[in-house]
Amino acid sequence: MTNKPIKPMRRDPEKHPWSEPAKRKLNPSIQVHQFPCLQDNYGYLVHCKASQLTACIDTPSVAATQQALADTGWTLTHILNTHHHEDHAGGNLELKEKTGCIIVGPAHDADRIPGLDIGVDEATGFRFGTHEVEVLNTPGHTTGHIVYRFRTHNLAFVGDTLFSMGCGRLFEGTPRQMWTSLQKIMAWPDHTLIHCAHEYTAGNADFALTIEPNNIELISRASRVAELRALDLPTVPTSLKIEKLTNPFLRPNREEIRHSLNMTDATNAEVFAEIRKRKDVF
Ligand code: ZN
Ligand code: FE
Repeated sequence: MTNKPIKPMRRDPEKHPWSEPAKRKLNPSIQVHQFPCLQDNYGYLVHCKASQLTACIDTPSVAATQQALADTGWTLTHILNTHHHEDHAGGNLELKEKTGCIIVGPAHDADRIPGLDIGVDEATGFRFGTHEVEVLNTPGHTTGHIVYRFRTHNLAFVGDTLFSMGCGRLFEGTPRQMWTSLQKIMAWPDHTLIHCAHEYTAGNADFALTIEPNNIELISRASRVAELRALDLPTVPTSLKIEKLTNPFLRPNREEIRHSLNMTDATNAEVFAEIRKRKDVF
């Protein structure tokens, strides 16, 4: 027990004209509504209260997105696409026709994003109402893949680039490209909330344990994930901090991994490539 004297509160409204509502005005809240759809996809609605804008991240399912809009009472104004795959952009045109929303997506993949209105990339970023949205080009899964981060709230939507304890398959890019992309994401603050597009966590944990069987954090996260999945609860979002501790694709510099792969002298990109190769046949 401590007996610290209680400091008197400073009340000087002239010098400090802040109040709760004023603070909220400066930093209007963002709400995220997450919903499962298709086999193992997650859809997300992102809503800015102040501007009454609502974006869906990708369009895996028109019906599920419409249901989510009905559940929240929000009106769709934007689609933010991460990449062109059917389970991410397949609902674009129908949703646009139904709602008149604006489609935002990778400028470098304009030809493959149905109905694209605004092409964005690392240089342009994006503004969602008053919110600054950082865009990163993350080639690897596809060449045009991008990810979004709502800067002030540290909410990231990473599509099929990063999964909890995994990463996207390399359909178009090289391992080196994907490793570079993941490093960009790793430069975000540790407390960044990572919203992935799929619930792949349990399978990813099984694989991760083959790469790093003695990682205590990984062992305990794997059992937490098993508990959540047994109850049919989502394991997503995750945090960048948790991923740095448990995701083998973010850990090619770790001694245990390098040792078990017999790659002690390899570069991080080479170790990453080997882990990705093993996951492809796991
Ligand atoms: Zn994909
Ligand atoms: Fe996908």
